[in-house]
Amino acid sequence: MVAEVIMNSAAKKLNRTFDYNIPKEFEDIIIIGSKVLVPFGRFKSLEEAHVVRIKQSSEFEIKDIVKVETGLTDKQIELANWMAKRYFCNVSECIKLMQTPGTRTKNIEKRIQDKKINVVYLKKDFNEINFDIEKGIIKSDKQKKILDFVKDNQGCTVPEIEAFTECSRAIVNTLIKKQYLELIEKKVERNPLNNKDIENTQNLILTDEQEIAFNKIEEAIDKKEYEQFLLYGVTGSGKTEVYLQLINKVVKEGKSAIVLVPEISLTPQMLDRFISRFGKEKIAVLHSKLSIGERHDEWERIKEGKARIVIGARSAIFAPAQSLGIIIIDEEHDSSYKSEASPKYNAKEVAKKIAKEENIPLVLGSATPDLTTFYNSNNEKITLLKLTKRANNSNLPKVEIVDLKQELANGNRSMLSFDLYQSIEQNLKDKLQTILFLNRRGYSTFIMCRNCGYTVKCKNCNISMTYHSYQNKLKCHYCGYEEKTVKTCPECGSDKIRYFGTGTQKLEQEIHKQFPQAKTIRMDVDTVTKKNSHEEILNKFKNEDIDILIGTQMVVKGHHFPKVTLVGVIAADSSLNIDDYRATERTFQILTQVAGRAGRENLPGKVIIQSYNPENFSIQDAQKQNYEEFYETEIALRKQLKYPPFCDIIVIGFNSTNEEEIKKVSKIAYEFIIDNLDAEEFKIFKPMPSPIDKIQNKFRWRIIIKGDMTEQANEVLNDLLKNLYSKEYKNTKITIDVNPNNMT
Ligand code: ADP
Ligand code: ZN
Ligand code: ZN
Repeated sequence: MVAEVIMNSAAKKLNRTFDYNIPKEFEDIIIIGSKVLVPFGRFKSLEEAHVVRIKQSSEFEIKDIVKVETGLTDKQIELANWMAKRYFCNVSECIKLMQTPGTRTKNIEKRIQDKKINVVYLKKDFNEINFDIEKGIIKSDKQKKILDFVKDNQGCTVPEIEAFTECSRAIVNTLIKKQYLELIEKKVERNPLNNKDIENTQNLILTDEQEIAFNKIEEAIDKKEYEQFLLYGVTGSGKTEVYLQLINKVVKEGKSAIVLVPEISLTPQMLDRFISRFGKEKIAVLHSKLSIGERHDEWERIKEGKARIVIGARSAIFAPAQSLGIIIIDEEHDSSYKSEASPKYNAKEVAKKIAKEENIPLVLGSATPDLTTFYNSNNEKITLLKLTKRANNSNLPKVEIVDLKQELANGNRSMLSFDLYQSIEQNLKDKLQTILFLNRRGYSTFIMCRNCGYTVKCKNCNISMTYHSYQNKLKCHYCGYEEKTVKTCPECGSDKIRYFGTGTQKLEQEIHKQFPQAKTIRMDVDTVTKKNSHEEILNKFKNEDIDILIGTQMVVKGHHFPKVTLVGVIAADSSLNIDDYRATERTFQILTQVAGRAGRENLPGKVIIQSYNPENFSIQDAQKQNYEEFYETEIALRKQLKYPPFCDIIVIGFNSTNEEEIKKVSKIAYEFIIDNLDAEEFKIFKPMPSPIDKIQNKFRWRIIIKGDMTEQANEVLNDLLKNLYSKEYKNTKITIDVNPNNMT
């Protein structure tokens, strides 16, 4: 017998199968999906590979498989093949997502909670490291293996590296000396499931609306049929209770459930509700804070059928759940379900594929559904289930809009409108908490010469540098490059250099100036670092005497602060002005969500939205908390301008160190596409530099195609990739992304 295997590598030239002989002793245990070790190429060492086909004979002279480890099922291999085609990546990259994280060779001691330990991070961007590997600056296989491991397991410990890579500490130290890795001292966070003594809860009696929803989905479970549902209801309308009861049913029948939530909402509070209903033995939680050892163990518990309920972020969709009975995706509009790194998969699409394969229902839940989802729920691809009332009768907060143009006309130049100022003052008096939200970090301070218009840009990335007053430095948010601040213009010598824009730091300073007595805490990409997690900041806000939380996007999701009665949005417009067809949808979603943070318990909440475009419909509809009205306006615009859901946006990205080559490759690609795709059905734009045309010294170009991503279009684009790679443009990397999150 002969096995066709795929090497466990992301190298493009290895994206094909190789034949190996199956020795007699392995004949019974090797199945499709088995992980094997094989001698490969001129290296003496053995390489990891996966069996994708078994056949009688080979036309080549072949070597023996040396070792076998149990791997994946054929269903998983089929899914990996499907993904590779659909998301234009290697099969092995998809297989990696489905494997038990790490193969352990030694036992590692458990991390002790609340103790400080040293953890390892990559010090450089992985692209840069890859570049050094390609250029032969990093030669040692062991060094490569460690770097690859740390890339997937940022924050691991040195003993973990030793146990999972079989390399010694000395090599780690070399990599630290060479500045590829860094050691950071960090407190071990508490595992959300440990030391929990939670009272059991029982099913609540469902409201009429909940019951209708539950019955519809139950019917699909009983009939063992695939069906996709959208459970649409405002925050607090009882969606989670419906999930819990569906899971309860499925588990009672001996099956399992996968529940996806955005990473950021995997909070202890959220998990408590699941634990109190099902007990922690039945639950596996997969999140990025787990160490590789813990992830390995959770994966095993799922595989053995001990854990029947899997709760996790995007990649938990690949958990090896035994006899799956339902998949639930909460906050389905959240952009984190789409991966931006290869494989650029969309977990909602993968979930649908799995649900169809297993004949089970897929339930999507949201208060502000993705426009495409809601559109499909109106045309019968998705069954719409509505919850219109809040389950616990709490009231929605009062939302006010302040016109900042008017404010300026009245002579108020501060970041806080008169209304917001007064409300903060009142809240401080009442000893209640406030959240101030700045929409987007891109709004932070940049430097400009008012004499000649010169702005300081990063020399690697061609985007404006951001001023950080605390360190008194200019920083590039893409590559981390830093420069000293300038006092005179390097272009014209004038001293009319000014700092523009509003960042969280500047807001914090202003708050301190206007309310010297207020205690504040800031949460943004600069304060949330390798050392301080979100959770620590949020816990401080909750437990310590802090009056005001100031932050970006990160503050808006899924947290529950009983004492927060006031939420202020500093400038709602900044997310409207970005160059993306989803700008209004995102603005509406974020404003609706942020409004939901105020007054969640008995205290009434108040939200103040400051805006330069108070008449914009996304802001108006967010004030009214009226999703459907927003949907009607926005979907009409999408239809008129032909944007998703009325077509797909396909972005072919080129990334190169060589400017001549990138022009040449993108031109060849363009001509190939023109020749092979129907001009009637696809609008194909000429190759152009991307909005950010240089990052980390690499040029960036792209081709945009508008049209339906059909099976046939997929073939054409896969052919394009094959063609270009076989021509060996060594300095250029090509990626294809369908409906990417980010258009820059
Ligand atoms: P959502 O997931 O839509 O935000 P939840 O399921 O969290 O809503 O419900 C909000 C609150 O209402 C929770 O405190 C929950 O316990 C309560 N609740 C939900 N369903 C019921 C019900 N049928 N009867 C009583 N209380 C309910
Ligand atoms: Zn100047
Ligand atoms: Zn840069």
